[in-house]
This record gives sequence, C-alpha cells and structure tokens, in this order.
Amino acid sequence: MRLPDGNILMSCAGSAFHRWNLTVKDFIALTPAGDIVDRPAGLGAAATTTHLAIYRRFPDANACLHAHSPYSLAFASLGLPVPSLTNRMDMLGEVPCIAADDTRIKADYLANPRPLQLPAGMSPRPDAAVVNLEHIEPQIEKVFGPRGHELAHHGLAFTLYRHGLFAFAKSADEAFDNVARVEEAARTALLQAVLGGDSGRIQLDRLFPATLTPSAGRRPDTYRGPP
Ligand SMILES: [Zn+2]
Repeated sequence: MRLPDGNILMSCAGSAFHRWNLTVKDFIALTPAGDIVDRPAGLGAAATTTHLAIYRRFPDANACLHAHSPYSLAFASLGLPVPSLTNRMDMLGEVPCIAADDTRIKADYLANPRPLQLPAGMSPRPDAAVVNLEHIEPQIEKVFGPRGHELAHHGLAFTLYRHGLFAFAKSADEAFDNVARVEEAARTALLQAVLGGDSGRIQLDRLFPATLTPSAGRRPDTYRGPP
C-alpha cells in the first residue's frame, strides 16, 4: 500500500507461506521506483514491478491486493473473465483475465538471458520479472489506462491466467471489499451454471487467448514432488 510519505509498503517474497503469523520482517518499504527505503529482512516478490507500475500509473490507487481466491481462480484457470452479474459488481464491470504464457517466456529468457533493469527491492528473479515487465504490465496499461479516473469512485480488478486475483483501489479496505465482490460474482456464476443459468456457462470461443497454449498442468522447471 502507499504510505503517507509516498513510499510503498509491500509484503516480501515468501510471506504467503506464513500469512497468519506475519511480522515486520515480512514487509519492505520501497520508493515508487523500487529503491529500498527500509528492509527489515526480505525482498519483494517477482510481481514487485507490477505492483509498483500500478502505483506509479494510477495516483488514486493507494492499495493493491493479490489473492489466490478460489472462485475467481476457477475462471482464471480457463482464461475467462469473471462476469459482472450481481448488483455489487455493476461498478467494477466484467473482470478481465490477463494472460501471459509464463512457462514459455521464462524458458525463452533463461535460454537467452539479457540485462534487465530490476528494482533493488525485489528478489533477483529476472526470468519471472520479464513476464511482468514485458507481458503483464503492458496489458494492464492497455486495459486499465483509460479507466484510471474510475478509481476516484471505486476500485478496479483483474485476474492473472492460472494464478489469482488483483484488486487496486483508494484504500486497503476498498481493495479488500473489491476482492470479496469479485469472489461473490464468480461463485454466483458457478452456482448459476448449476441452476441452468447462462452466465456461468463456458463460452468456448473465449477460452484461452489465441496466443496462449493451455498448460499441461505441470511445469518441469518447478515441479518438485514424486512422479
Ligand atoms: Zn500469486
């Protein structure tokens, strides 16, 4: 979130693994450019550049929440937007799914590494950062750049393909409320499908952006478990 002095307070990489027992060591304060202001222990995660880009691009965004919330993730796992079908979603509208073929992008980068300008306050993961810098952030600009003025009235939200939900808003309370609204809509769409309604039905022509290959579900570069 944006601090009163204009700097950005973020959770550190790995803090999600003990999210119910966070301490000051799980946070880092950065300038909007990503330089370190206060670093009790860790560094920002791979999506640090995306969070900072949102704060720089949208002066009315003072909080940015990221969640692996289950109902919207059902839609994001298929590359589908979360439909706006409850009254509490009228202001947010349809929540788009932003997609990048991160497995291929990371592999391409590792095969042909090149210098990247990464903020000092994030973990040194250029292969992951390139997905955010060169693929996700341009799409955020394209989709939400013309909608920045809406933040004066309500938050904005998007999902990342196969990953989770982002909501950004004037305050942390509003961003959290937006996460709840999107989850309500996603859950309602799924329940509508059970009842035979149209909104939750999968529209095959909207599955998977044309440039993206559906994942086989296992990533050889990260899979650690037994076969
Ligand atoms: Zn995540």
